[in-house]
Amino acid sequence: MILNNALLLLLLVLAIAAGWMLTRGGLRIGNAEQAQLPSQYYRGFNFLLDGEEEDAVDAFTEALAVNEETLDTHIALGSVLRKRGEVERAIRIHQSLLARPQLTAVQLHQSHLELARDFIAAGLYDRAEKLLLDLITQSSDLRQTARRHLLEVHEAQRDWQSAVSIAQALIDVSRDEESASISQGQAAHQLRSHYLCEQAEAALESGDARVALPLFEDALRDNAEELRALMGLVRLALFEEDIDQALQYFELIIDSGRASAPDLLALLEEICARQSNPTLQLSSLQRYYKKQPCSLLARALARELETHEGKEKAHAFLRSTLTDKPSASIAASLLLGETVGPDALPEREILEQFANTDAGYQCEHCGFSGRARHWRCPGCRHWDSIHYLGAVLEHPSA
Ligand SMILES: [Zn+2]
Repeated sequence: MILNNALLLLLLVLAIAAGWMLTRGGLRIGNAEQAQLPSQYYRGFNFLLDGEEEDAVDAFTEALAVNEETLDTHIALGSVLRKRGEVERAIRIHQSLLARPQLTAVQLHQSHLELARDFIAAGLYDRAEKLLLDLITQSSDLRQTARRHLLEVHEAQRDWQSAVSIAQALIDVSRDEESASISQGQAAHQLRSHYLCEQAEAALESGDARVALPLFEDALRDNAEELRALMGLVRLALFEEDIDQALQYFELIIDSGRASAPDLLALLEEICARQSNPTLQLSSLQRYYKKQPCSLLARALARELETHEGKEKAHAFLRSTLTDKPSASIAASLLLGETVGPDALPEREILEQFANTDAGYQCEHCGFSGRARHWRCPGCRHWDSIHYLGAVLEHPSA
């Protein structure tokens, strides 16, 4: 949530007042900063009266002495500024914390972490990386958090090799401490797999299948059903003209239970187009549909049935699916097949909208939607959280 300047100022004034009263009350007497407090405090008000809110925030921030009681306030203030996009001011606040000799090692580490977050937000990845590497060696409490942020740095720089090493370190720790890496972000083994796939896909793109193969295979190390790695292996087998191998990998995708989607059907179509058996696509879709009776596969199977066994068989099959799995799009497809008349008839247009199979993809995490699958959501940066929407839209009663 974004705080506006007025609320920020109110919080600052309250924090200063609370700190000042504590000091007056004798809890922290003898601090040299105590004498500075009133002048900066009133300077802040002057800025406020002149309508200079930005300067007022700075003056109040300076008025807020750094000590054990107010450290959290400074850190929270820096964090609010960072989230508002005022990264330079956040950096100034966190850097000023590091200059204070009275902070304990734990507090300094906390300030280091905040500063690293600021640097990431500012795109200063080299500086963030240095701070985070220091934290990993110096702070056992913040080590895992620092590693998670280091992953952000490597992801932003597309340094997938370094990202694999950090993900592996997170996996090693989670083996010792069951919940360590589960509590923060995505499972490290899933991230490691995507980092390997990034490298493998780049290698395959440049025609280097020998480099790509072990990377895809390694991506399956912790999860033999990892969709992206299996799809990569299908493409690699196609690249090497090994159609049987491609089909074997595709069978693993079918068995993995991942929801079917247009990109998976396109891959199957490509495999079948590259071999000589004319009914391979029909038999593969029949097997796929048995595993996953969804309308996307039903329509694909009906198209193959129509080609090989005629329109009647295709329509009979589609009708049979409606009993167990009522689907608006399949019902509309059937009606469209029986509606006679020009394409421009209004009822045809409505039916075509219902029968439209191009439902698109959506992120289950942040709701980002698009026409294609992204392995990493452009909205929330989660990996493999974007799925085909068809199954949700086509069964409104489900
Ligand atoms: Zn998302």
